[in-house]
Amino acid sequence: MFRELILSVADNSLVSGAVKRYGLKMGAARFVAGEHLADAIAVTRQLQQEGIGVTLDHLGEGVKDRAAAGAACQSYLDLLDALDAAGLPGNVSVKLTMMGLGVDPALGFENARRIVERAAAVSGPDGEPRCFVRVDMEDTPYTADTIAVYRRLADEVSPDRVGLVLQAYLYRTKDDLEALSDRPRRIRIVKGAYREPAHLAYPSKADVDANYLRLVAQAASAGHIVAVATHDEGIIRDVLQYFQRIHLPRERYEFQMLYGIKLSVLRELARAGHRTRVYVPYGEDWYAYFSRRLAERPANVLFFARALISR
Ligand SMILES: Cc1cc2nc3c(=O)[nH]c(=O)nc-3n(C[C@H](O)[C@H](O)[C@H](O)COP(=O)(O)OP(=O)(O)OC[C@H]3O[C@@H](n4cnc5c(N)ncnc54)[C@H](O)[C@@H]3O)c2cc1C
Repeated sequence: MFRELILSVADNSLVSGAVKRYGLKMGAARFVAGEHLADAIAVTRQLQQEGIGVTLDHLGEGVKDRAAAGAACQSYLDLLDALDAAGLPGNVSVKLTMMGLGVDPALGFENARRIVERAAAVSGPDGEPRCFVRVDMEDTPYTADTIAVYRRLADEVSPDRVGLVLQAYLYRTKDDLEALSDRPRRIRIVKGAYREPAHLAYPSKADVDANYLRLVAQAASAGHIVAVATHDEGIIRDVLQYFQRIHLPRERYEFQMLYGIKLSVLRELARAGHRTRVYVPYGEDWYAYFSRRLAERPANVLFFARALISR
């Protein structure tokens, strides 16, 4: 209910105008590394020194034409070049609607293919590849096409250099995961961040949480490398107990969190020897991403509204 409300208010043009004007200074900077590629590289370097990996997201989604999709694709190629030049290992997270999926699925695939090919070509001093592309999952009008594009990228370009996100709030995810279990893959499990109707997504948090645990178990037992992407400490505890019980080797899973949220918990996991990664978004088009972070937590809205009003 709360998420529904905040995401629909965020669609209002008066609200978006005001927030875009002052938002980064007033609070969005907590969740976004900055507006420029150099900001993202600086955060990457700092986290790497702490033994924590990153996945970089150049913010943007839902482009309306081929030119915008081409420019978005180029921004990711530039990002991979910058990681290569800086000698940094790094993953990138890509939204296919930014690559043109909503304009034409073939365009989304072609742009994503160029990014995966470039990522696969970046190697370290030992000649091993060191970049990887995660296909983010967006709202349900794009679920089937996103999975189809991901499958083609894995089959036709590089099974190891590309992975997919699946959302625990969707009823369909169990079946999607089963269908994807024809080969070992890299799957990030998240709860899901968009506004979805009750006939497609569990409305109750308890059901989403229970499904999250079932999906992690399903993915691990199918032989996928699982990225457990949540800030929910109860879930993390249960998942760790489960992984220990089934003796899952540490290279078969990773914990991931969003920039600005519970980094101290991620640091503890890293210190305990688990693989960890922070999702680091950057760029000027931060509004939609920021709205989803507000919608996840009432306290964020209160904090931000107070800052905006006092301004
Ligand atoms: C690495 C990563 C990648 C993601 N990629 C996708 C994707 O591709 N598609 C997609 O739909 N969603 C994605 N998400 C978002 C995800 O779906 C959830 O919306 C988000 O993670 C919040 O859910 P939670 O699992 O942390 O659990 P919740 O039950 O929502 O939160 C657990 C606790 O974490 C803290 N917390 C959670 N969110 C916030 C916040 N915004 N601000 C402050 N504290 C917070 C609170 O203490 C809360 O009690 C991603 C999340 C992560 C961590």
